[in-house]
Amino acid sequence: MGKVIAIANQKGGVGKTTTAINLAASLAILERKVLLIDADPQGNSSSGVGIPSDNLDETIYDVLVSDLDVNEVIYETETPNLHLIPAGINLVGAEVELINRFRREDVMKANVIDKVRDAYDYVFIDCLPSLGLITVNALTAADTVLVPVQCEYFALEGLKKLENTISLVKKQLNPSLEIEGILLSMYDQRLRLANMVVKKVREMYGPQVFETIIHRNARISEAPNMHAPVVMINAGSRGATNFLNLAQEFMEKNEGV
Ligand code: ADP
Ligand code: MG
Repeated sequence: MGKVIAIANQKGGVGKTTTAINLAASLAILERKVLLIDADPQGNSSSGVGIPSDNLDETIYDVLVSDLDVNEVIYETETPNLHLIPAGINLVGAEVELINRFRREDVMKANVIDKVRDAYDYVFIDCLPSLGLITVNALTAADTVLVPVQCEYFALEGLKKLENTISLVKKQLNPSLEIEGILLSMYDQRLRLANMVVKKVREMYGPQVFETIIHRNARISEAPNMHAPVVMINAGSRGATNFLNLAQEFMEKNEGV
């Protein structure tokens, strides 16, 4: 049975989508069967693996709101072993349309996760920064949360907020939810502030913080324009190396390899 990992942080622009795309792709390259679920109406994970949702008739929205069979929206990507469930702008509407539904926090688990997790080693859910019903659905469906943290001061605030959210979700909706790990991202070693944040986060969260740090790297920010993970198009870059190392560390934690 596959493990389900939500990638979340209530702050935007911290590297959630970048991590979702590139950790998923790296594990897929290392021959794990991986499903990436886009749960952000911006659809950046979808276009980032080559499946922009603008020209798709059906996305995760239809599975959540109209109970479409999830298998209808699983797409193969150019990355071997990596499948995608895309999201489009209409997912914004799902926040409202699910409100009156029975067990509205459980729809993603029932309609998506329970039906697909056996077919994969890992399922990643790329979350929105806001704590709306879609994100709550993702946290209810997940086994763990992976939290990317940008190496800057306000990072710590976002982390505190997310900790509160996680304990609320644990109390009310998903008692077994755990933290997968905190990932230091967009690190620039020339900045004193970045080094202070790394030190502080490690002091506060100890072994919960991944050893691997994702450096700020132009190849990472260019990759979305080419609709492919950096590990696929620029495998020798520092960005790709960081994510492949992260995948290795992730596998050591989860599989002991
Ligand atoms: P989020 O999903 O948390 O909003 P993104 O992953 O979309 O954040 O990242 C925000 C922006 O920063 C994007 O333009 C992305 O390409 C860029 N970015 C993310 N990580 C890096 C990195 N390690 N190096 C350079 N640019 C990055
Ligand atoms: Mg994002």
